[in-house]
Amino acid sequence: MKRVVLSGAAGFLGSALARRLLKRGHEVIGIDNFSTGRRSNVDDLLSSKSFSLVTHDIAEPLTIDGPVDQVLHLASPASPNDFVRLPIQIMKVGGLGTHNMLGLAKAKMARFLLASTSEVYGDPLVHPQPETYWGNVNPLGQRAVYDESKRYAEALTMAYRNQHQVNTAIARIFNTYGPGMRLDDGRVVSNFIVQALQGRPLTVHGTGSQTRCFCYVDDLIAGLCKLVESGHAGPINIGSDTEITVLELAQLVIDIVGSKSTISEVDLPEDDPTRRKPELSRADQFLDWRATTALQQGLELTVKYLDRELRLM
Ligand code: NAD
Ligand code: UDP
Repeated sequence: MKRVVLSGAAGFLGSALARRLLKRGHEVIGIDNFSTGRRSNVDDLLSSKSFSLVTHDIAEPLTIDGPVDQVLHLASPASPNDFVRLPIQIMKVGGLGTHNMLGLAKAKMARFLLASTSEVYGDPLVHPQPETYWGNVNPLGQRAVYDESKRYAEALTMAYRNQHQVNTAIARIFNTYGPGMRLDDGRVVSNFIVQALQGRPLTVHGTGSQTRCFCYVDDLIAGLCKLVESGHAGPINIGSDTEITVLELAQLVIDIVGSKSTISEVDLPEDDPTRRKPELSRADQFLDWRATTALQQGLELTVKYLDRELRLM
């Protein structure tokens, strides 16, 4: 049994990871300031004596009593909507928050995981994106607060590894979706599903020719766990490599929901990446991991979840 500190525990991925760790018999100390997370994501875990939830902004120093085996750092707003709404908070959690979590890992001699992102590749000029690619990021654009804070977080993680021998790992997470996403999260999968369920037009940004690869949450969490257990430093891309255009996704969601919604083209946001797809040979070779949930199946499960959430409103 491991004692795990998990930042961002009330978020979409953090709550799914907490659930998985508890199932495996670990103790989880969740930390969250609820800027984009929700207590309802972890309501079912609060009765477990192996789970505790501390309300804290990790940009501020924190103390945890007793030994800690793993520090898993997932806290950060992650939706492009939040890049505009919470720019300074994003930079603070990526900079000061990562610093505090690395300091905790150092003090406790714990394994550290950074939840980094495919956004470190920006609008990539190399396709698919291997971990060796340095990226193409506009440092002044709307997405910069997120992209650059994650790039800084990666550099800081490597600095702690090299200077203090902290046992670190960097996961570069690609677009992930599934039950647990907020109705108003703002990312494409939840937007399209909610719009289709409500019979409203699906808001395709630009012509919808931009591509993404969507990974189901359970697969992603399995990959993160494998990376933490592996002892590997990374960075390792974790995601699906089934590429689809945003327009194809819109049509697929309409079909799955059986909706009468139409598709409406709206403005393409600044610096929206044109193509994104992970090169996954490291995940395969070092973690023996790949995503296995078909998009159709994952979307069906997500539709069920968001439909229930809408009915509870
Ligand atoms: P989310 O917004 O659902 O969860 C983030 C959580 O962090 C929330 O509960 C939020 O309240 C918490 N948080 C934010 N700032 C904090 C702070 N200063 N102190 C304490 N808690 C704070 O997002 P998510 O999709 O679950 O993303 C989790 C992590 O995975 C993020 O670091 C994100 O960058 C990374 N990631 C996610 C995806 C994805 O597709 N979901 C892709 C790439 C990377
Ligand atoms: N997108 C869209 N309609 C929406 C939300 C997003 O067409 O209502 C597009 C967005 O511009 C991007 C893709 O869908 O090209 C994925 O967006 P998301 O916000 O999910 O994540 P990103 O990959 O941009 O980080």
